[in-house]
Amino acid sequence: MNAQKLLQQFETCFTASAEGISSAPGRVNLIGEFTDYNDGFVLPCALQFRTSVAYRHRSDNLIMVYSTNYPGESEAFELTHELTQGLSHWGNYVRAVAAIYMKNGYKLGGLDLLISSNVPQGAGLSSSAALEVALGGALNQAFELGLSAEQIALLGQQAENDFMGCQCGIMDQLVSAKALKNQALKIDCQNLAIESYPIPDELALVVINSNFPRKLVESEYNQRRADCMNAAAKMGVASLREANLAKLEACGHMMTQNEFKRARHVISENQRVIEATEALQNNDLEKLSELMAASHSSLRDDFEVTVPATDGLVEICRRTLGDNCATRMTGGGFGGAVICMCSQEDVPRLVEAIPMLYRKRFGLKETIYIASAGEGLQTALCAEAEVSKI
Ligand code: ADP
Ligand code: MG
Repeated sequence: MNAQKLLQQFETCFTASAEGISSAPGRVNLIGEFTDYNDGFVLPCALQFRTSVAYRHRSDNLIMVYSTNYPGESEAFELTHELTQGLSHWGNYVRAVAAIYMKNGYKLGGLDLLISSNVPQGAGLSSSAALEVALGGALNQAFELGLSAEQIALLGQQAENDFMGCQCGIMDQLVSAKALKNQALKIDCQNLAIESYPIPDELALVVINSNFPRKLVESEYNQRRADCMNAAAKMGVASLREANLAKLEACGHMMTQNEFKRARHVISENQRVIEATEALQNNDLEKLSELMAASHSSLRDDFEVTVPATDGLVEICRRTLGDNCATRMTGGGFGGAVICMCSQEDVPRLVEAIPMLYRKRFGLKETIYIASAGEGLQTALCAEAEVSKI
């Protein structure tokens, strides 16, 4: 939804006009999966899909929220320091962000909020981070908190970790907050340093949502993180970033098989991100193809987060385009999406082949998006003319 339409809907919802607007994108991770919370490297870019939030101050201490993605539903809560989860799953993300801002000492007040998004939800494209960052941008502007994009990202991550109970790393929120148009960001998650790399014009980013239903993912996800932390501790290093394969082999006898395998994925994936960044710079699709294939195998066999549907989509892409595509699962796994980088001219062939080969075999209907790397968090006051560009 464009900004003007959102502002009109806000007026219909609250019978008063919005004062400000904030929007943040979902993301697709090119390579570097589960490395962020191990202080490693990632290489994501933002999507053109965004979550927008329009707001207006209230005279009381209530947060009143609607989302155009959940018609007929609403969420309302009072801003107290004892804020806990409510009954609405999506409403809890709003509670989470408000609670974490207050916990960090930022003074908030009542707001009417309207959320609207075209980021696919639950597809591993980070609609939750887009929401946390867009909400953070709205709070930052509404209450003049003076936060940087990096701080908004960190607070969003804290909301997801401490309030929602998902032990995600910083990648999703950071790329949503700081992405640059047509660029992939190489993030060093140890110090949050970002280098940007242009995505070559001739390279298409095809994102295929498997639409495989994800269930009980959070506990699996948190278990993976615990395995990584245990493996690092057994090697006597602060994080897996500090380890290498020789050290892992030497210390392997102290680990469970899962700890060993999770660590082997993370250590090898960090190296692949470094090589992929170079390959992207050289527009070397063959090298990217090799690295992405290795990443996917490692996620399937060592990190054990793929499902037959995502393995199948990767296989279908490779069967259709061979080494002329770089493809792997992307995001948190257990379903979700696959990314396939290929030349623009091969896109029609791929888009034609996937439904034919996927639907019959898996009984699922995929959704295909041709991604173009968008910009990070943007905010504007409605009094200003810039609203139109959000
Ligand atoms: P992902 O981040 O991969 O899309 P998650 O399960 O982490 O998947 O987050 C999806 C959840 O985020 C949704 O189920 C919903 O609760 C919340 N959410 C995302 N976008 C919106 C939105 N536009 N309006 C309300 N809630 C949203
Ligand atoms: Mg999420």
